[in-house]
Amino acid sequence: MERKNIAILGSTGSIGTQTLDVVRAFPDRFNVSVLTAGNNVELLIEQALVFLPKIVVVVNEAHYPKLKEALKETSILVLAGQEALIQAVELDEIDIVLNAIVGFAGLKSTVRAIQKGKDIALANKETLVVAGELVMGLVKQHNVKMLPVDSEHSAIFQCLVGEPSPIEKIYLTASGGPFRGRTREELLTVTRDQALKHPNWSMGAKITIDSASLMNKGLEVIEAKWLFDLTVDQIDVIVHPQSIIHSIVQFQDGSMKAQMGLPDMKLPIQYALTYPQRFQNDFKRFNFLDYPSLSFEKADMDTFRNLKLAYQALAEGGNRCCVLNAANEVAVDAFLNNDISFLGMSAVIEETLCHINNGDNLGLDDYIAIDEESRRVARQLIYKKVVN
Ligand code: NAD
Ligand code: MG
Repeated sequence: MERKNIAILGSTGSIGTQTLDVVRAFPDRFNVSVLTAGNNVELLIEQALVFLPKIVVVVNEAHYPKLKEALKETSILVLAGQEALIQAVELDEIDIVLNAIVGFAGLKSTVRAIQKGKDIALANKETLVVAGELVMGLVKQHNVKMLPVDSEHSAIFQCLVGEPSPIEKIYLTASGGPFRGRTREELLTVTRDQALKHPNWSMGAKITIDSASLMNKGLEVIEAKWLFDLTVDQIDVIVHPQSIIHSIVQFQDGSMKAQMGLPDMKLPIQYALTYPQRFQNDFKRFNFLDYPSLSFEKADMDTFRNLKLAYQALAEGGNRCCVLNAANEVAVDAFLNNDISFLGMSAVIEETLCHINNGDNLGLDDYIAIDEESRRVARQLIYKKVVN
């Protein structure tokens, strides 16, 4: 059997390393063609020496000499910089690009990969949050597959296999994060370290903070709209603290399908890489008796305002989700640096949205410009202590 050639963007991160775990479990099915990282050159070197890809890219050019030196005995093409990251996905042999970069930084490579006819396994949800309409248009135009890695979207995708009939609505499940059940008053004083302790998942810092603020679910609502071509009203969020049901589709006859399993990202990663097949693996199995009760709660959008802001941005359309995403990335960074409070993050996003006019008919360059402008505004708000 031919092996599937994979480009893994962001291979040193939480999703990237788990993707390599999946690849390692099926050495005769998968081959790594490209590995890329932002900064973590040590781990990138280690990975490159094990998986021997054709191309390795480190985005931070300062790390180039070290990477080049460490791989000099191999035939790997060693590159550095933003443009190299985007060009690497053009390599002929690549069948599928798994994008596990965090943030807006992943958008351009997704777009280039689609234009080159590559299938996409998408963890980088910000790609669809910022430019969902544009990206899904390209997916159609170039007739490639867009396979979700995000567990909720993988769940919906799996529930839809073999279903020709339309969706009535979907329920995205949310763990509720470490601050589930807290009041706004109680959230005034929560710290960065408390926010970084997620109850069910071990993930990169940005998405962990997004999970604590429920912005992650907001981004996922937007991601779902574009992946499954839904209206805002068709997308509901339900808090499910055990993270066993990964999401639910309700059909027009009232029947519902849910996809479940242990909270382990290797499952949706593997499915995105093997779709439409399922490969036998030895990952840990779910045991009902370990979870005698699965529970559900309403999402508290007044306390966790980011979720409401995301719904509003999606309903308004135009550039709103791009602005929301950029302001959120700046706000999360600032919170991680202890420059603003937990609730200050929502204030930064809301204020930034107010400062930037909406617009439509947007192409890739427009999104890049709006992203830059939104970041500038958000940073100013923080720097001038308009919000804190
Ligand atoms: P992470 O921070 O652990 O890893 C990010 C990766 O991207 C690293 O390899 C890093 O080197 C690279 N990177 C960072 N900035 C970059 C830049 N400017 N240019 C190029 N590369 C850059 O993040 P993660 O938790 O693995 O998340 C990756 C993406 O997957 C995010 O969009 C996240 O929302 C999504 N996701 C993650 C999980 C999870 O369980 N971790 C689950 C669902 C979705
Ligand atoms: Mg998710």
